[in-house]
Amino acid sequence: MPKPPDSLWWATRDDDATIRPPLSGSVDVDVAIVGGGYTGLWTARELLAVDPTLRIAVVEAHVCGFGASGRNGGWASALFPVSDDVLERRFGYETLQHLHRQLASAVGDLGDAIARDAIDADFVHGGTYTFATTEPQEHRLRDAAKSAAESGRGGEMQWLEQAALRERANVANSRGGLFSPQCARIHPAKLVRGLARAVERAGGRIYEDSLVTRIEAGTHRRRPRVVTTGGTVSAEFVVRATEAFSTGLPGERRTVAPIYSLMIATEPQDETFWSQHGFDDYATFADDRHLIIYGQRTADNRIAFGGRGAPYHFGSSVEPRFDHSPRVFDLLLTTLREFFPDLRGGYDYAWGGPLGMPRDLMPSVWVDYESGLAAAGGYTGDGVVLSYLSGRIMSQLLTTPSTPTADTTLPFVQRRSRHWEIEPFRYVGINAGLTLAAWADRVEEHRQVESRASGLLDRLFDQFPP
Ligand SMILES: Cc1cc2nc3c(=O)[nH]c(=O)nc-3n(C[C@H](O)[C@H](O)[C@H](O)COP(=O)(O)OP(=O)(O)OC[C@H]3O[C@@H](n4cnc5c(N)ncnc54)[C@H](O)[C@@H]3O)c2cc1C
Repeated sequence: MPKPPDSLWWATRDDDATIRPPLSGSVDVDVAIVGGGYTGLWTARELLAVDPTLRIAVVEAHVCGFGASGRNGGWASALFPVSDDVLERRFGYETLQHLHRQLASAVGDLGDAIARDAIDADFVHGGTYTFATTEPQEHRLRDAAKSAAESGRGGEMQWLEQAALRERANVANSRGGLFSPQCARIHPAKLVRGLARAVERAGGRIYEDSLVTRIEAGTHRRRPRVVTTGGTVSAEFVVRATEAFSTGLPGERRTVAPIYSLMIATEPQDETFWSQHGFDDYATFADDRHLIIYGQRTADNRIAFGGRGAPYHFGSSVEPRFDHSPRVFDLLLTTLREFFPDLRGGYDYAWGGPLGMPRDLMPSVWVDYESGLAAAGGYTGDGVVLSYLSGRIMSQLLTTPSTPTADTTLPFVQRRSRHWEIEPFRYVGINAGLTLAAWADRVEEHRQVESRASGLLDRLFDQFPP
């Protein structure tokens, strides 16, 4: 069984991750969940909060937290993978505002849910900074703050001039930037491991080391089933919560594209460093480049810093060797040193993992009441809060299907994205998109003018109906 990569998070988790016994024989429950990441575990936890008598089984191929949930950047943010412009065009202004409200409160709700189960996940609701590190970034971020103010959401996004920003978050290469209060910092692995224990305390069963080889739809004669080499679970509903790893299941090869994001963690930085740079509120940070980067000051005063840039692998393959790329790790360290030239040491940890990107970038939570099959995921890189919200939505769809709520009326509920193209078109298209994003950043950095590639990238994902 593959082990999770040697990340900072796995090395500093708060349990020994002893593997739970695998599924063996036939089991019958009310809800079977495939995947022991945030989506699967929040679905289980929220269902048990609504009805503690429900019989729930979570079936995980490796250990809970093996996937992106145990390896991510620890941004619990109100970010959504699709841009506001596209969302407004597809769903209208009211729906967009509704989505913003639900996402904003979901950051705090996640904190409350973690507190309800006394999970110590280093959750600090300190907000997030987006630094402008080039002139085009400065234009875009000032515009974003202006439009937020015009639509009555100025409190969500505030432009700070260079001097004011340096008082709070002092990085070498910023020309000013945005502050948003809508983000909390977490320790990803402590969250997912603590959540698994909370599910068990609430009465859920978790089977680890249990690779699901098939999910079978229910018929009028038989309940839907989850099949592993060691056993089966039949249930009223089967929820697939396998995100980027979905591509290994029959029929799911083109549901999402696994995109790799890689991370490094520095050694702990001393008091002099932090008194120079601030980040006293543990706000997360990024800039506005196209090839996304993300950072956080950890509880033990390191910087955990990640970014995209690793290639997409042909055929949507997901393999442990793709979690490492010395080239990308070195690039990340170089970029981090541009923010913090006095950074001490190199990196103590370096790792990566796949996230699930749907063809139109829209996440989805759906239930098919006929077949008893359901699924949630496709958050691209914004799944920490979205997976919590999706678990909550899934529990509402399963327990009170005919009662619409503020959650179940969100635009990503009861919809599915179209499939990705077949190979080699997928491989060529995604890697061309990644190259274009990197090229746009280089142009903007060297010429200080907005690259035309930005418009092309937006159009690439905006040509498909919801
Ligand atoms: C490096 C990195 C950094 C990221 N940073 C952030 C961030 O800062 N903020 C943010 O919001 N999001 C971030 N994300 C995305 C976020 O981590 C994910 O969206 C989220 O964790 C998805 O949770 P999940 O439970 O849906 O999927 P996962 O955590 O990937 O869990 C899926 C689980 O399903 C299991 N599984 C798959 N197939 C099977 C099968 N056949 N049988 C049984 N089990 C199976 C897997 O083993 C895995 O444990 C990042 C992702 C990565 C990779």
